[in-house]
Formats: sequence, structure tokens, C-alpha cells
Amino acid sequence: MLASKLYSPTLREIPADAEISSHQYMLKAGLIRKSGGGLYSFLPLGRRVELKIEAIIREEMNNIGAQEIMMPIVQPAEIWHESGRWNAYGPEMFKLEDRHGGQFCLGPTHEELITTLVRNELRSYKQMPVTLWQMQNKYRDELRPRFGLMRSREFVMKDGYSFDVDEEGLHKSYQDEYDAYTRIFTRCGLEFKQVEADSGQIGGNHSHEFMALAQAGEAEIVSCSQCEYAADIEKATAPTLEMAAETAKDVELIETPNCATIEDLAQFLSIPLEKTIKAVAFTIDGEKTVLCMVRGDHSVNDVAVQNFVGGNAIEPATEDELKAHGLQPGYMSPIDADKPDNETFFILVDPSAMAVPNGVTGANKAGYHYQNVNPARDFKDVTVASIRTMVEGDACPHCGAPIHVVRGIEVGQVFELGTK
Ligand SMILES: [Zn+2]
Repeated sequence: MLASKLYSPTLREIPADAEISSHQYMLKAGLIRKSGGGLYSFLPLGRRVELKIEAIIREEMNNIGAQEIMMPIVQPAEIWHESGRWNAYGPEMFKLEDRHGGQFCLGPTHEELITTLVRNELRSYKQMPVTLWQMQNKYRDELRPRFGLMRSREFVMKDGYSFDVDEEGLHKSYQDEYDAYTRIFTRCGLEFKQVEADSGQIGGNHSHEFMALAQAGEAEIVSCSQCEYAADIEKATAPTLEMAAETAKDVELIETPNCATIEDLAQFLSIPLEKTIKAVAFTIDGEKTVLCMVRGDHSVNDVAVQNFVGGNAIEPATEDELKAHGLQPGYMSPIDADKPDNETFFILVDPSAMAVPNGVTGANKAGYHYQNVNPARDFKDVTVASIRTMVEGDACPHCGAPIHVVRGIEVGQVFELGTK
């Protein structure tokens, strides 16, 4: 324990691939060293930090009556085939074969393994509830490992799994875990928010993410300046913005040369961006075309569009798909387009776009727009749906105070998987 004997090689020069400060500091102070892309060795000081964090987690898990176990890193493919996730997990899963040709993976998570472990022996309601957890290495074959430990391919994760008799038991276990996480991150000294989240690849109904607030974070969060409200920006429903009432004028076709973007258009006509209504089009699973209309100063939340329409893969629509529905790329609007059948062709209009009086929108004719458009009168057969992304200063859906858009690092997540 002598500092004079401490193996703590420090660095003066920061390697070029260390882009963010946490990565730079850990390398300079001799906490970690890179051993390969997204693979790190922990040196004595780094390991001591890791052990202290693990001790906090272990205490809080013990406090809620959760029991520690250790499951293997290498998992047989059969249990993943049984759950249907062998292929669904995609290229992020490290797969390997043994000398007999048996298929395995390096566990990215352990739902399959824990369920297999307990299903023959956890038989009576009298044995429940029971929560088993572990602190174990996890593996994800990231497309681009980066940001040091933040997006690495091997990492240590605490994962716990509760087994409950009924829904009520599930809610209680969820709350226990949620409270334990809150205590863990508080004790670690993090500034964090609990946000409502999407269950994503893991599945299930109800989920919260714990986000440490940091500029280096890859997630965008909306957070109220007054109350406790916080949400993943993709999950947040933006409020409808009303504009000052005007007498509706007649629609007019106007020539708008060299207006490639909505900003060019607003400048050319000398009108504010919010008096324009812009169009963004997507294709979902290659079979549904969705035209989305939002106010010119807003952007489309593609997760909200996908949740509304359904389907899996959302991509920008191609020119051919647009033309097949009577839409002119660059000048799209519901006016003079095909009528949506709400099966293969959808037109979604954000409520704030619906509220624009005497606005400007595309005419489905190259080089032309319509002005004095009043969507409630002029957009026929469209579906009104909240599809815009929240912006700084929007009203909080709970208390009405202005919200902030901040960045965060996901440090924990709790799911209610139910019977999945
Ligand atoms: Zn609020």
C-alpha cells in the first residue's frame, strides 16, 4: 500500500482517439489502458475505483433483499433460439463456435440464461418473490467503439432479475429496484435524472432510464426547469403552439425559384419560419409511405411517427415512392397529392402545423408553393398527430414551465418485462 510502490503510469500526451474528457483523464492518470478496439485494462487505481462502485451497488442490492449470483459469460445458442432473439439481437452480439460445431454467444445480457436457470426449480408461489443479480462482464460488438469506457465492447454490468407471483408483485419489485438505483447514483455523486424510456431490444411495457447529465452524453433528454418531469426526447410529446389569429385568405399559387430549403423559402418571401409548413417523408419497412407536416421551425420526431404508424425500419422515402403518391420532392404538401389510404400511404400533420394561419407550403410542382394555406381548411383527409420534437423553452406537459434540452449518459435502466 505504499505510494512509492504504486504502479500508476501517467501520460503527458493524449492519444488522438481520446475525444472526450473522461477518456483523456483516465488515460492520463493511469487508471485504464486500451488493449484493443473497445477493450480496456484497468490498472491499480482504476480497479480500486471500480471496486468502490461495486461495493456501493452490492450494499444497495443487499438492502432490497436481492441475492447475488454469477452466471457464465459464454451462453448456448439454443436458449436464444427459444426466445427468438438469436437473430433479432443483430450484429451487436458476439457469436462463436466450439470445436464440436456448437453455437454460443458472449452474453450481451442474461434474460435467457436466468430464466433457463430458474424455470425448473422456482415452482411455487411460496418461493416468490425472489430477485437474483450479478456483476458480470458483458459483450457488445459495437459498430464504432469510442469514447473510452462509454462505448466499449467489453464492460462490467450489474444486472438483476425479479420473479414475482403477479402484477402487483412486479410493480413492487420494479419500485424496489428503481429506489435502489436512485440511492446508488446519489451515493456515487452523479447529477442524474430518471426518465421515461423506450424498452427497445429488451422489450416489455414500462421502463425508466437513469441518465447522468453530461455534455459528452449521446442521449438527448428534456427536463423541466420547475418540476420533476424528464423524458427521453424521442418519447416526449411536444405541446401544440397556437399563433395569433388571422382572417383566412384565399390560397394562391406562387413561383418560388431557387428555394431548396425551408430557410431559403422564408427568406425569399420575407416571412418568419413559423409561417411555413414543411414536409418530411419516410418509408416504413419498405411498404408504407408517410408524409409528415410540421411547422417550418420544428423538426420531425421519427420515433413518434413510427410509434403512430407501426412497423420496424424507418428510412427516408425515395423519390420514386414520393412520385408514386403524387408528391414532388422538395415541394411536397397534402394539397394536390394522392388521398391517403392509411394503409400504404399516410399523411400526418403536427397540431402546431395545423394551427398556422395563412401559411406557406409546397404545391407538388417544382418551383412553386402555395400561400395563404389554412391547414384545417386546405389539408384534406389528413391525420393530426403529435410528431414534432420538443425544443428548448417548450412548455412542460406536467406544469407548463419551460423545459430544457440536455444531454445525458445512460447509467442504468429498469424494465417491467411481464410474461415476456
Ligand atoms: Zn414541469
